[in-house]
Amino acid sequence: MAASKDFYKVLGVSEKASADEIKKAYRKLAKKYHPDANRDDPKAAETFKDIGEAYAVLSDAEKRKQYDQMRRLGAFGFPGGRGSSGTRRGSGSSAGQGGISFDDLQGFGGIGDIFSSIFDLGGRGKSDSGKSKRGPQKGQDVEYVVDLSFEKAVGGGKISIDVPITEECATCSGTGAAPGSVVKTCAECKGSGQVSFGQPGFAVQRPCPACFGRGSIPEKLCPQCAGTGELRQNRKVQVTVPKGVDNGSKLKLSGQGERGAGGGAPGDLILTFRVKEHRFFKRDGLDIHVTVPLNIVQATLGSKIKVRTVSGTRVVLRVPAGTQSGTRFRIRGQGVEKGERVGDQIVEVKVEVPDELSDEARAALEQFGEEAALRH
Ligand SMILES: [Zn+2]
Ligand SMILES: [Zn+2]
Repeated sequence: MAASKDFYKVLGVSEKASADEIKKAYRKLAKKYHPDANRDDPKAAETFKDIGEAYAVLSDAEKRKQYDQMRRLGAFGFPGGRGSSGTRRGSGSSAGQGGISFDDLQGFGGIGDIFSSIFDLGGRGKSDSGKSKRGPQKGQDVEYVVDLSFEKAVGGGKISIDVPITEECATCSGTGAAPGSVVKTCAECKGSGQVSFGQPGFAVQRPCPACFGRGSIPEKLCPQCAGTGELRQNRKVQVTVPKGVDNGSKLKLSGQGERGAGGGAPGDLILTFRVKEHRFFKRDGLDIHVTVPLNIVQATLGSKIKVRTVSGTRVVLRVPAGTQSGTRFRIRGQGVEKGERVGDQIVEVKVEVPDELSDEARAALEQFGEEAALRH
């Protein structure tokens, strides 16, 4: 049977071969052994089938990973990965030393069955497919977007958020049983919560479908959670926002995600900050940009103006005489603080032309205008 063969040898590639090398090797061999091209050679058809089988597994990254794992464990009766890195077993391991030989597999339909059940399990998991499903499992990570005011993002501080997370049902403490209900040991899994397929020592386990992997079955289901033992709830989480977070910054809160299964650790809560725009301040990295209006007299004669900073203080900015609209001034160290670094505040002045004038102001401007005209 083809599955008892070494897929790498079948394709004539090394076990470190890239996906591309595998593809090339397959194409070459498939062409060579194609039944249409070898009508007189019945063995070619057999070889062609083997090649196809080997390629089906090795060309699929997930299947290949699982195949490699089994191969290393000696599951196919040949010492896999001898001398290669990542081999857990010593050299020269064979099926007789704890691995499963081809003969051992005959009892339950051959290795193809093990394969399909493993691959089924792998395909079922969401983010962690391919990992072992045995024993405790870490809970899922939860991603959550947090809206922050501009000031809070810059200055940091404590906030409280409500994150929808699947929690243990408080009514039944996760047992799934109605209060006072008698709980019986699950007959299907005899209380282990797991049902297994395969041989001892190399069994594939999955949670018992009868009892949801709990090992026990209540006579009356918890009305709150309908027997699942968990509820989707909003969890209040206190978050200390670090100083200087920006739009898109992420923060990981370890152990604040979904709870694990079978005594596994909970997942993490991963926050992404979405920072609201400010009507006055604009942020560019650690620098803060503001635009400040100047009247024509301030710009012409020079002036001292007070400018608000992002930290809430006011600093005095000296505008020299003859400042043009659009001129930028840098106030050092008044930008965003992040770790050891701090940005600057950049003030752009915008000279505003008055749209209303008193008679006196008009007269003064008219005089200025006459003088200006003479100079040109
Ligand atoms: Zn419940
Ligand atoms: Zn059960």
